[in-house]
Amino acid sequence: MGPAGRAPSFASLAVGDEVVRGEVADTNGARLARWASESGLRPGPRATVGDDERDIARALRFLLRLAEVVAVIGGLGPTPDDVTREGVARALGLPLAERPELRRALARLYSRRGMELTSAQLRQASLPLGAVPIENRVGTAPGFWLQAPPRAEGGPGRYVIVLPGPPRELAPMEADVRALFRAWFPEVRPPVERRLQVAGYGESLIAERVARALGAGAAAPGLRLAAEYAAAGVTFATYLRAGAVEVRISGPPEAEAAVAQAAQAAEAALAPWVFSHDEPGLAPAIAKAASARRVKVAVAESCTAGLVGAALASVPGASDWFRGGVLAYVDDAKRDLLGVPADVLRSFGAVSAEAAEAMAQGASRALGADLAVSVTCFAGPAGGTPQDPVGTVYLGWADGARTGHVRRVYHGPRDAVRERAAWEALVVLWARLHGLDPEGSAHAARRAAGPS
Ligand code: ATP
Repeated sequence: MGPAGRAPSFASLAVGDEVVRGEVADTNGARLARWASESGLRPGPRATVGDDERDIARALRFLLRLAEVVAVIGGLGPTPDDVTREGVARALGLPLAERPELRRALARLYSRRGMELTSAQLRQASLPLGAVPIENRVGTAPGFWLQAPPRAEGGPGRYVIVLPGPPRELAPMEADVRALFRAWFPEVRPPVERRLQVAGYGESLIAERVARALGAGAAAPGLRLAAEYAAAGVTFATYLRAGAVEVRISGPPEAEAAVAQAAQAAEAALAPWVFSHDEPGLAPAIAKAASARRVKVAVAESCTAGLVGAALASVPGASDWFRGGVLAYVDDAKRDLLGVPADVLRSFGAVSAEAAEAMAQGASRALGADLAVSVTCFAGPAGGTPQDPVGTVYLGWADGARTGHVRRVYHGPRDAVRERAAWEALVVLWARLHGLDPEGSAHAARRAAGPS
């Protein structure tokens, strides 16, 4: 534990002129803060500093006064503006030393890429004295960590962990970083947390349902939970995540039983729309259900132009159940490729319930699928009709002999409407795979919200 039995404090320093200027958002700092808090550390300040050795050193010394663990992220690459190693060494009063094993690893890596190891690239093999490297599985620059020398700012026992800036290099280091937190603070127990991934309902309605399930009065959802949960320190929060809503129910380490009980109550209140516990995103849940039920899936997309298909194909092994899709943007394509009758297009328009259902039937026929979903919409900014303004989306579905559709109206710029439409198509697919009415959640939502 940290001083006086408190959780150890954590701070992060993002290095990079582009981050300081606001051209790149510091998502790395956010990611590290999450890893830290889930490990039982107490996230504190997050700072950004430009690619300047002295500034990095000054900022790191300052943060070491505030936190027991400081993560420094970015500026580890081979280019001359990458001076994080030098800045960290300066802050801690340590020399940089080339590490033979890192030099060999870099030489191997560059030779595999058909490149010579230049002196600039070789800088990546130098670490402050006493640092322990952290393998970079994607890029060239290793991360490292070290315990600050006793005379360093903030006093003895502080840790500095230095990690690469590109998020795709940082993300695979998650397990290493979490393992370090555990090793440094073996007595710290992480808070307990249960997650539910929920489709169908809007976020505020989900929050209200969970609050009621946990005993809060409807007048103050989320504020006063039932006495047994409040006493145990159980709280909950909702987040929009990957096109659905994530409910997180958490509490201190000793509240495990109360958190589990609360999660059960919340899940019962949201059934049957909880599609997973920990894994966000509907595509993996669709994959699981389609594989288990041996249902072949197809899509017909107009305004989303491949977003739905791309989401489905992102799941490994998708060819087991995903037959493919037809991207029919213009009316002719809907008619010729999907067999949408010309008089449907003439009488109702391409953005209509009738066209959406015919598109889904067409995709199911063309691709030999058991279940198909279609999307057609007025993504804007121009277009729309008085009945169906910009943002109106029709999603059709066809499984076996049955067809149906869902109508939604979204607000926001063109790509926001297209993205929401694609997410909703996944909800429709998931619902049909489970024999649910895709409209069911909306009906339930309206019922729960009471007469409007
Ligand atoms: P390399 O130079 O080898 O790419 P590096 O560790 O030096 O690695 P940076 O140069 O700092 O990394 O960053 C590379 C890219 O990573 C940046 O242009 C930016 O796109 C992204 N990046 C850097 N810092 C952050 C951050 N704090 N949050 C999100 N993305 C970041």
